[in-house]
Amino acid sequence: MSEEKSLNFIEELIENDLRTGKYETLVTRFPPEPNGYLHIGHAKAICLNFGLTQKYGGYTNLRFDDTNPVTEKTEYVNSQQEDIKWLGFNWKNELYASDYFDQLYAFALKLITKGLAYVDHSTAEEIAEQKGTPTAPGKPSAYRNRSIAENLDLFARMKNGEFGDGVCILRAKIDLSSPNMLMRDPIIYRIKHANHHRTGNAWCIYPMYDFAHGQSDSIEQITHSICTLEYVSHRELYDWFIDELEIFPSKQYEFARLNLTYTVMSKRKLMQLVNENLVSGWDDPRMPTISGLRRRGYSPESIKEFCERIGIAKRENLIELSLLEFCIREDLNKSANRVMAVLDPIKLVITNFQTGKEEILIGENNPEAEDKGGTREIPFSNELWIEREDFMEEPAKKWFRLAPGALVRLKHAYIVKCEDFKKDANGNVTEIHCAYIPESKSGEDTSGINVKGTIHWVSARHAKTAEVRLYDRLFTVESPDSEDGDFKEYLNPDSMQVIKQAYIEPCLTQAKQGLGYQFIRKGYFCVDKDSTPEQLIFNRTVGLKEAWKPKA
Ligand code: ATP
Ligand code: MG
Repeated sequence: MSEEKSLNFIEELIENDLRTGKYETLVTRFPPEPNGYLHIGHAKAICLNFGLTQKYGGYTNLRFDDTNPVTEKTEYVNSQQEDIKWLGFNWKNELYASDYFDQLYAFALKLITKGLAYVDHSTAEEIAEQKGTPTAPGKPSAYRNRSIAENLDLFARMKNGEFGDGVCILRAKIDLSSPNMLMRDPIIYRIKHANHHRTGNAWCIYPMYDFAHGQSDSIEQITHSICTLEYVSHRELYDWFIDELEIFPSKQYEFARLNLTYTVMSKRKLMQLVNENLVSGWDDPRMPTISGLRRRGYSPESIKEFCERIGIAKRENLIELSLLEFCIREDLNKSANRVMAVLDPIKLVITNFQTGKEEILIGENNPEAEDKGGTREIPFSNELWIEREDFMEEPAKKWFRLAPGALVRLKHAYIVKCEDFKKDANGNVTEIHCAYIPESKSGEDTSGINVKGTIHWVSARHAKTAEVRLYDRLFTVESPDSEDGDFKEYLNPDSMQVIKQAYIEPCLTQAKQGLGYQFIRKGYFCVDKDSTPEQLIFNRTVGLKEAWKPKA
């Protein structure tokens, strides 16, 4: 991508700030909650936050937003780090909101001391009731006017574990008639007697998102705290806490989250798929997780290219899954070696090629690569596997592949002419007999015969077997989230097809994990992580052509 791109609105802001000298150093952060594996939506936020500091200098922190002990796990921390690194980004500091628990507690004390926070013993229902509606102001809680001393005492006792979960909470004292419901005395601390993945049992009170996020940004002197549009209404509260606490003025900016067709994009929902065994795990190749895409055969470059192409918008939109597929197809077209594999085999016997003889043909690995990817040896013999669909007993019009009496070229090999075929009792074709034309060898063809069709094949005697997994979109509808009922009702029952025994070129026994291969005419494939030398397993990353049309 060399063409000059116009600036997105965040880049414009930053260039403006840099011109006016508002900040010395640009500091961004990527703040995942370690409550699941990262998905392609996170990749967009990662590319944005890290991309900005790559472009303008400064640095990006990785901050785990781990203020909810119940949902967070070290497994997720590790997978999230692995995924960011795999995408090719390096953070300056690895930080945890839980490392700020002492400071956040001190911030809460400061608010109480300023008369701006109080301990509330109302029930959850009472608090909801008191909140009012967007058109009717809220009502004060019976505990709103507790003295500063009483609040300090109660909050200390909350911290010391004197109360059970939900007995009381700490609320900010802001404005019960604010049109912004979040400003109507939001909860800032709650009691949770739960083991935290890092702080263990040191705490039994935990700050709410709004009381942790902005302050963590401020502690780290984040200049641009970039989040998704759902947080627009939180900005007022973000600024209020920072103003009242008189701490570093981080600023929040919002952009449109990534929504993809035929996909759900929330860790919570993806976790349901995992927990209910509807997929094989977080890294199931059908999952929109970064680890799933990696296992499916996506490269980091293709994901970054996708994020680049979709850009940064201020309004919600829905991106076509086919654009993501386009990006990996483009990438693999340049990088993937071409090989032959037969997924639905039928035997082809060459009647005029000596039984037991073997000929070694030479195939170019990648006509799209600059050096053509080098060459490989392809064994040829009198018995081959070809694709069942490449033969038609009664050929359709414009059929250029095999049919009785028809000629076709075998890729990298010879032209053959179909002489005969065999059928079983059920009328299924079991074997095709052809004669080959010795003067028609690829690259040194003197036969003078022109054929329109070329098909792939594998020598039966030399072929290796492999399991091949073909994937389709995980959902049958464009927006499973916005349909009636549960999103899981819209799972595509045919999202995975397993071919237990495909035949592959012998060179594929050397196939490496992390590399893409084009199975000629069949798509792009990669070695699955479950593959072993005894039992090779390939995943189809994407077909060669768009399988379904984007809507007009
Ligand atoms: P999820 O609902 O999937 O858990 P989240 O926003 O709660 O998403 P976080 O771990 O809090 O997940 O997100 C970390 C960062 O990634 C946040 O800054 C968030 O804005 C961003 N992010 C999450 N989902 C998307 C998305 N679909 N598109 C762009 N950015 C996203
Ligand atoms: Mg979240």
